[in-house]
Amino acid sequence: MNAFNALRLLVNPVSKSLSVGRGLSVRALSNTASRSFATAENESIKKDAQTAEGLSAAAIHSNGPARNDWTREEIQAIYDSPFLDLLFHAAKVHRANFNPREVQQATLLSIKTGGCSEDCSYCPQSSRHETEVKASKLLERDVVLDAARKAKNAGSTRFCMGAAWREVGGKKTNFNNILDYVKEIRGMGMEVCCTLGMLDEAQAKALKNAGLTAYNHNLDTSREYYSKIITTRTYDERLETIARAREAGISVCSGGIIGLGESEDDRVGLLTTLATLPAHPESVPINALLAVKGTPLENQEPVKIWDMVRMISTARIVMPKSMVRLSAGRVRFSQPEQALCFFAGANSIFTGDKLLTTPNNEFTDDQLMFQTLGLVPKPPKFEQSSCSGGCSHSDAEPKQADAAN
Ligand code: SF4
Repeated sequence: MNAFNALRLLVNPVSKSLSVGRGLSVRALSNTASRSFATAENESIKKDAQTAEGLSAAAIHSNGPARNDWTREEIQAIYDSPFLDLLFHAAKVHRANFNPREVQQATLLSIKTGGCSEDCSYCPQSSRHETEVKASKLLERDVVLDAARKAKNAGSTRFCMGAAWREVGGKKTNFNNILDYVKEIRGMGMEVCCTLGMLDEAQAKALKNAGLTAYNHNLDTSREYYSKIITTRTYDERLETIARAREAGISVCSGGIIGLGESEDDRVGLLTTLATLPAHPESVPINALLAVKGTPLENQEPVKIWDMVRMISTARIVMPKSMVRLSAGRVRFSQPEQALCFFAGANSIFTGDKLLTTPNNEFTDDQLMFQTLGLVPKPPKFEQSSCSGGCSHSDAEPKQADAAN
């Protein structure tokens, strides 16, 4: 018996019952089975077997309710589904949960740039890296509010403010100024989000009271790979800040970056952590590294569109009601490539010429792309809502870029 037939025998008898049950997917089982025969060369055989079966893990898991009890194996199986099958089922999930023509336009402004004490390997704003980014103080009120007005006039419904800080900590004057900016921008009828590093409970409450819609705090990568990227803040500290924002009633925006040198297993690990939080983040930014000269990751290869679409599709299936944001690195992708991302379930982008300190797509190019693809801006939404799957969601969320505060 060759490996292919042995694999089919192992997969076939159980796959029918698994299509109605929970726990292991066909792919998870085929993974388990395939490990018995594990050789690098049978990878293509596994995928053929899965296709011959007619049901990929993406197909199996695209019909159920939202859940936060995913296993890593299940998410791995979805991620490993044949590409077009994964894309198709992610698109179905997207259409079942959102108006697929609507894409949120958010604008991100760096209100305090550079000089950050953290050592995030991808970030040009870290004071530990020799980059061209110069440290500056918190932007003045008029500058920030003017930028928000311009963003609104250009069609953005969300205004995101990023500060290159490890934490808000004792920066009372700056924090009070930011609370004022939040109030004013919310008063313009925009959703407002911030990414200011770690928050304590009182700060989270103050931001909520000021009218903050969402707080961004990315996990960046898997727990296992995290220490290769950042050593000055722990994974658990990130999770604690996310929990504080959530407890204060602020929508959570949290995602990660691919292209950091991580493995596919790390990408799955990141998605597993996000998808098994007590509540899914309302927004999940998927960033593709834009390698910046002077950072430790300056020589990383650009992320391939296939990896980006696979990541977005998997996020869409396992967090069906979250906004999935095509974030940093979009500038590298052509419009047809971005179209694939939208088809896979991305429904939020940053518009504007800069993402904190890295370049972004031209506004006019984005307008043209919206016309070409029949996309329309998503209107702002301020209330929290609940999904039916035991995870609380709201349709609102926040920001990101080269800062993964
Ligand atoms: S990503 Fe954020 S926390 Fe990390 S170095 Fe850059 S600004 Fe600082």
